[in-house]
Amino acid sequence: MVLVIEYLNLFVSLCPCILFPLPMKLVERILDYCEISKSFKNHAQSIGFVPTMGFLHKGHLSLVRRAREENDVVIVSIFVNPTQFGPNEDFEKYPRDLERDVDLLEKEGIDIVFVPSVDEIYGRDRSRPVPTCKHLINCLCGKSRHGHFKGVCQIVSKLFDIVKPNRAYFGQKDYQQFLVIREMVKDLKLNTEVVMCPIIREKDGLAMSSRNVYLAEEQRRAALVLYRMLKEARCRGGIYAFPTKDIVEYCKKEIENQPLVTLDYFEIRNAKDLSKVKTFDCPVVIAGAIKVGETRLIDNILVGYRG
Ligand code: AMP
Repeated sequence: MVLVIEYLNLFVSLCPCILFPLPMKLVERILDYCEISKSFKNHAQSIGFVPTMGFLHKGHLSLVRRAREENDVVIVSIFVNPTQFGPNEDFEKYPRDLERDVDLLEKEGIDIVFVPSVDEIYGRDRSRPVPTCKHLINCLCGKSRHGHFKGVCQIVSKLFDIVKPNRAYFGQKDYQQFLVIREMVKDLKLNTEVVMCPIIREKDGLAMSSRNVYLAEEQRRAALVLYRMLKEARCRGGIYAFPTKDIVEYCKKEIENQPLVTLDYFEIRNAKDLSKVKTFDCPVVIAGAIKVGETRLIDNILVGYRG
């Protein structure tokens, strides 16, 4: 009987939310978020969280939709995190349009957009959890963007601490980031499931990215060489079983021959631990990074990966 009354109480308290969804809240202060989120915990509602740097596109929105499907409440953060940018990178000019982002998120029916300032997040605390997974952070993007993944772990651990999500959603586009965060969550013994979502592409195959707005028409066309070579590598390794060394050599040359494009890296690695591989006899990630003008773009393809 007591249980029935408990359930009735819960149903009555949730009823207004189900019948009349509450408007999305824009929250800037950590304390305000904590206050609002008390009611989620009281009603045992699951929290889905999508951390972003804003200037949202369909890739971000695919994560938001997945979070919406799998959770009772959805929180999206918009925070351009200074500590993951190097001194010569584009932190200052990273594209921002909060008004447009808020409009898009409102249409997705999310519950809270969390938009803290740098001071609100870091204050005087500049401590960083040191990622223990050195094998994951010292290669690919970690090699060319020194300190990048330390900054990523710092902000994501802080945001997880505030939001306390049951599930957090990340894109395969940043596959190395996904692996690093999943490892960090294990290390810190956090109770958050880290979910990876597929890469959303433009019609011509270019991976969607906030940075694509920097590209002029001609640069945009040139940038397609990266995805073309990722597919070529998949075909040469997966179907023809060529050694990865030969595949990488061929693809690098093709990218380097493309005017307007500078190659950062093109590699084929074990999808589980990012170790080097000689053939495609285990799940692999084919990953590349290029610079087109001043714009750095990354992309990857997984082969034989089952999650
Ligand atoms: P960002 O705002 O660039 O930090 O990205 C926020 C999240 O969106 C990260 O988990 C990214 O991996 C993900 N994301 C970015 N671009 C795409 C895309 N084209 N498809 C799917 N997810 C993406």
